[in-house]
Amino acid sequence: MESFSESYAEARGKFLLACADAGARVTTYPREGLLGETGEVLATDVACLGPEAAQRAAIVMCGTHGSEAFSGSAILTRWLSSRDDRPSDVRLVFVHAINPWAFSHRTRTDENNVDINRNFLGADPGPTPENSAYDAAVNLLHADPSDAAGVLALHRAYRAHFEANGWAQEGQIWQGQWHRPDGFMYGGQAPSWSNITFRRIVRKHLSRATTIGFLDWHTGIGQFGEIVHLIFDEPGSIEHRAASGWWGLAGKEDGAFKTGAKPKYRGLLCQAIRQELPDARIAGGVIEFGTADDYQIFRGDLIDRWLRFEGRDHRDAKALRAAHVDTCCPRDISWRRLVEVRGPEAIDQLLAGVAGW
Ligand SMILES: [Zn+2]
Repeated sequence: MESFSESYAEARGKFLLACADAGARVTTYPREGLLGETGEVLATDVACLGPEAAQRAAIVMCGTHGSEAFSGSAILTRWLSSRDDRPSDVRLVFVHAINPWAFSHRTRTDENNVDINRNFLGADPGPTPENSAYDAAVNLLHADPSDAAGVLALHRAYRAHFEANGWAQEGQIWQGQWHRPDGFMYGGQAPSWSNITFRRIVRKHLSRATTIGFLDWHTGIGQFGEIVHLIFDEPGSIEHRAASGWWGLAGKEDGAFKTGAKPKYRGLLCQAIRQELPDARIAGGVIEFGTADDYQIFRGDLIDRWLRFEGRDHRDAKALRAAHVDTCCPRDISWRRLVEVRGPEAIDQLLAGVAGW
């Protein structure tokens, strides 16, 4: 069976079929009150394998950013349908489409434009930081990308802006912002449905585990076909060393950022695991598959935001939406074959790592 899908509904169907074939227990968290792109019901589906009372567990998520879920979903489905030999003492939890509305509507953020991966600030977040770097670049970020020559000029201006002001400013933009509800990396003013639901999932399916490994699938960072691991713990910490060992990373991290280091992101989804289970030993990270060059990514991001706001009724909206999805999940067969092989391998490495930690 082809692992990749053309829509959320198709991806969900394939995932549930693979769960049934693999004997996984599925718990469905319906997204009530909203429908998908073609009127379909929306839900986050959680598949569990392995003993419920296991002290070791691995959790793998996809769809934190909706349009990146096409590849994450394919990886989960592929793993389920190709792995008969599973560790007997590790509980495995797959979270399919934690942001189902965004997956179905082929966009990064949720129905309120909240970037789920900036929304997990914890119980007492304190004041949300200013983001003056965002405001300084807002005219470039919120511009109309529907014209090819125009967006090329915008990209040049964007690069010139950070050459002049320092690429650290771009890192600051990516950390998250809380003052532009129509902008990128908007963290929202309250916990989103995905946030509340993910915390429920962690408590329900992982609370008996004392050692937990996690992996959240994304796409877009890195060169086409490059695999980039993002581990958010301090280098040298026990957790960082553990996850680096699982994925064989010695000295490889952070090379994908022009700033030389990854941004200090706030409100990441994976942080909820520690917030909910403070006594457990937890390590892991994000894995990105690079999809396109800088210009294509810039254009795809601009299109996604602009179609949500100013460009909603543009005559090319549908085709531009497809162009955005192409920068999250390329159709190139060599890219898809890479993801089909390397994605499930990274889950194997996670499981072996947790089993031996
Ligand atoms: Zn992402």
